[in-house]
Amino acid sequence: MEFELAYTPEQEVFRTEVRSYLERIIPPLGIKSGPGEGGYEQWLKRREVGRKLGEKGWLWPTMPKEYGGGGLSGDHAIILEEELERYELSTSPYYDSGARVGASAILVWGSEEQKKSFLNPMFKGEVVSWQLLTEPEAGSDLASVKTLAVKDGDDYVINGHKTFVGSSHGVDQFWTICMSDPKAPRHENVSWFMIPATLQGITIMPLDLLGSDNEGHKNSVFFDNVRVPAFNLIGGENNGWKVATTHLEVEHGGGGRIGRNRFLERLLNYCASATVDGAPIAKDSDARDVMTEIFADAEITRLFGLRNFYLVHARKPRSYGGPQSSYFGKMSRLRLTGLNVQLLGYAALTNDPTWGAADGYVEAQSRSGIVGVHPGGTADVQKLIMARRIGIGRTTREEAGRLD
Ligand SMILES: Cc1cc2nc3c(=O)[nH]c(=O)nc-3n(C[C@H](O)[C@H](O)[C@H](O)COP(=O)(O)OP(=O)(O)OC[C@H]3O[C@@H](n4cnc5c(N)ncnc54)[C@H](O)[C@@H]3O)c2cc1C
Repeated sequence: MEFELAYTPEQEVFRTEVRSYLERIIPPLGIKSGPGEGGYEQWLKRREVGRKLGEKGWLWPTMPKEYGGGGLSGDHAIILEEELERYELSTSPYYDSGARVGASAILVWGSEEQKKSFLNPMFKGEVVSWQLLTEPEAGSDLASVKTLAVKDGDDYVINGHKTFVGSSHGVDQFWTICMSDPKAPRHENVSWFMIPATLQGITIMPLDLLGSDNEGHKNSVFFDNVRVPAFNLIGGENNGWKVATTHLEVEHGGGGRIGRNRFLERLLNYCASATVDGAPIAKDSDARDVMTEIFADAEITRLFGLRNFYLVHARKPRSYGGPQSSYFGKMSRLRLTGLNVQLLGYAALTNDPTWGAADGYVEAQSRSGIVGVHPGGTADVQKLIMARRIGIGRTTREEAGRLD
């Protein structure tokens, strides 16, 4: 039997250790979450939690110890996520999208020296990384990137423009895909670099989008003759499409998710306490129908995430599960924006302290449900990947590089 529903005594000892450590480090920081709590001070506190987890190897629990990970099992990772959830946090507690995907790719495709050099600071929570893929003319069609990397002595000189990337409050390095040979055939002409954000010639320009105030703003990043050491090329020149298979597997939902659905809890609590015509919303039979629909979608999303989390951390084979989970999550959150209005009317569309539902959480979801259809591969792209994984249409060119 490979799936146990109860934790072993050894795992419960680990839980106790985690719980008491988190009790020591998190409450004194005064971390808050929710709409409007994404400011710089709160971000610094989350970074502090990240560093403290990193010191124990708990920021990246299942990654190898020699590179700064915890060398622990998938079950340990689940316990860590469950305990962090008690504080409405997760690993990582701050936006670190470039590490989530870049670290996996470096682990599979990097040289021993590169693993030692790049993974340790990421796994210890010492650096924040953004992933830089999208360009004004290359989104879903990632292989069309134009940001150019040209070898010059011991460096690559990089010129170009990435957009819709990163978040608020700063960054240390960029996990970036570039065109490295304009004359080579498509898919044989791209390469990945880990680029320090402090290099000369880099400009970051914030972009204010629909979800900026909840989830952090996005940015454009411009590269103007930026000299990047050749050491920072990961996976070999013009081998970037192979490296991308590992990156995209994680990006397209393959990493899974453990954790409560905090929005659902707030919505249901609100419906139980807020009243219409003297009775709680949750007592109304039409409202209950909508709430049931919302609950069912949320539960399916949770179970897909749980399955994928287990598969990835237990190093089990995976197929269409990542894009399936991502697609379902995107579409159910989009449906939710409509169901919110059906359930709560105008209260779902304002964050006014008097008229808005659930302290602004519902209004924030109504925006993020729309925005969320696009990042990490659009819903259409997830459908394409699922089709390929189950052998419909064009077959996969190559399997994702992964650790077994
Ligand atoms: C909130 C947010 C966060 C983001 N974060 C990042 C980030 O951190 N790093 C980063 O690099 N990028 C990021 N992005 C960019 C995101 O990855 C792109 O927006 C996405 O890949 C789509 O690219 P595009 O916007 O150019 O749209 P396009 O690719 O031009 O797509 C336009 C429409 O056409 C559809 N479409 C495209 N190709 C196909 C096809 N083959 N079959 C069917 N339909 C298709 C799409 O589904 C979409 O509806 C983010 C975007 C958002 C909104």
